[in-house]
Amino acid sequence: MKRGILLFLSLLILGCKPYKAQSIYNTKNNANTTDPKLVVGIVVDQMRYDYLKKFYSKYSNGGFKRLMREGFQVQNIHYNYIPTFTAVGHTSIYTGTTPSSHGIISNYWYDKYLRKGIYCVDDSNYKSIGAKSGGEKSPHRMLTTTISDELKMAQNGRNKSIGISIKDRSAILPAGHTADAAYWFKGGDDGKFITSSFYMEQLPQWVQDFNSQNKADTYLNQVWNTYFDINSYTESIIDDNSYEQPFKGKETPTFPYDLKELRKKNKNYSLIKKIPAGNSILVDFAEATILGEQLGKGVGTDFLSISFSSTDYVGHQFGVDSKELEDTYIRLDRDLERLLNFLDKNVGKGKYTLFLTADHAAVQVPAYLQSLKVPAGYFDSDKFKKFVKEKANIYFGNSDIIENISNLQIFLNREKLKEYYLSVEEVTRKLMEEIINFDKVYKVVSAETMQNTNFTKGVLNSLQNGYNQKFSGDILVMPNPATIIYPHKGSSHGSGYSYDTHVPLLFYGKGIRQGVSKRYHPIVDIAPTISSLLNISQPNGCTGRPIIEVLK
Ligand SMILES: [Zn+2]
Repeated sequence: MKRGILLFLSLLILGCKPYKAQSIYNTKNNANTTDPKLVVGIVVDQMRYDYLKKFYSKYSNGGFKRLMREGFQVQNIHYNYIPTFTAVGHTSIYTGTTPSSHGIISNYWYDKYLRKGIYCVDDSNYKSIGAKSGGEKSPHRMLTTTISDELKMAQNGRNKSIGISIKDRSAILPAGHTADAAYWFKGGDDGKFITSSFYMEQLPQWVQDFNSQNKADTYLNQVWNTYFDINSYTESIIDDNSYEQPFKGKETPTFPYDLKELRKKNKNYSLIKKIPAGNSILVDFAEATILGEQLGKGVGTDFLSISFSSTDYVGHQFGVDSKELEDTYIRLDRDLERLLNFLDKNVGKGKYTLFLTADHAAVQVPAYLQSLKVPAGYFDSDKFKKFVKEKANIYFGNSDIIENISNLQIFLNREKLKEYYLSVEEVTRKLMEEIINFDKVYKVVSAETMQNTNFTKGVLNSLQNGYNQKFSGDILVMPNPATIIYPHKGSSHGSGYSYDTHVPLLFYGKGIRQGVSKRYHPIVDIAPTISSLLNISQPNGCTGRPIIEVLK
């Protein structure tokens, strides 16, 4: 009887709780001594390829320059889909495929089944661990495996796999479905690294210890000034200009920044995300992770993914050409040097493999480009929504056939179409005829075309790789180059044009050749390259190919 109750209870628990795969891994020792002890994947949010060259003279010898000098530079790697956003970028790097199959089609999108807007990693099945809220997340919307998943399964769970970042999505998605943990920074009045009950029920002692050191306070009690004399920052435009968004509580977007004062009006601990110290505290946390989890010290190959987010926040606020952005990269380079030295000391030089790339790049502030007479501009999405609804009314007598317009996609309401005896084809065709005439629209394509035509190159190939038959809209719109949906201050990203798609890619360490390649590679080639290096399966939706010139 008792056993019956126990069985019933355990079935009940199994039914409600996530299945913990670790429990069934066999623990046979199958470690290969030629494999790296640790793979470190680094993503720099919004890093353009040209930053490697642009700020080269200001970098130290031990950061970016060390990776470029001693490792392998892939100089012509591009995103091969639209939209180039954070969640999509991280997922594509680690899954080796595009939104058409991994399913992460944006950061936020309209879910036509739930009929509401959703966020890529939100998951109400889980609760927040380490803070009252902000941890209700999981990678459940990512439909394929990551390279970190494949490494975990290849070793029967005998390694550790962890993702860390300031942003939740940038910690969760790279770490994959089988991760031991993902940690990210909770701003506001918390100022701590937190996680989700998807991974654990309690923060490990080392994370609690890290949080109790209040490092965020130490950083936020300082003044942000330039690392070198500001007059030597000749790679960027003047400090006080109209293309930058000042912080709340400060009139001009100019150095120095009194953080202690500014945090009062800029959501307290959230301010650290928007300054270089957001990257510094992540390196502090990376060091604590390596020590706390003894990464690189186990029997197998561990995996640590690190994503630096502050570069993206600074780019959005101050723009690609700002002194703030230049200083952020100069300081990130020092943080990188610190991380590499730490890895040498604690894992061992020659015992780890590392790659560094970005989740997307960014456009120069369009208003600044306009001042240089370069064609650029702003896409008015509110006006666009009104325009589409107006046309629907004119031609079909009803605007409620338009269910949702978001991420430059139009979703038609199937029930209303039926009710008014309209076909998707005729509505789509008529609306497209009108939309191409809307200000700053470059192309408009139907879902039907995406399904029935095979585009092998160019922006339409990128649009197709980003199109997911199940989740995407019925009409897809592409604005002109250097045209963004954003305020007139600061940079953004999202397009399939080269300023958004061209990113750095550096490989370094065990199994990696020293050299440079100028050959074109799509971003989906990173994951199979790591698979090839580790001699493990490629992620299960992988569409890329190994970059063979990188490997020994
Ligand atoms: Zn961004």
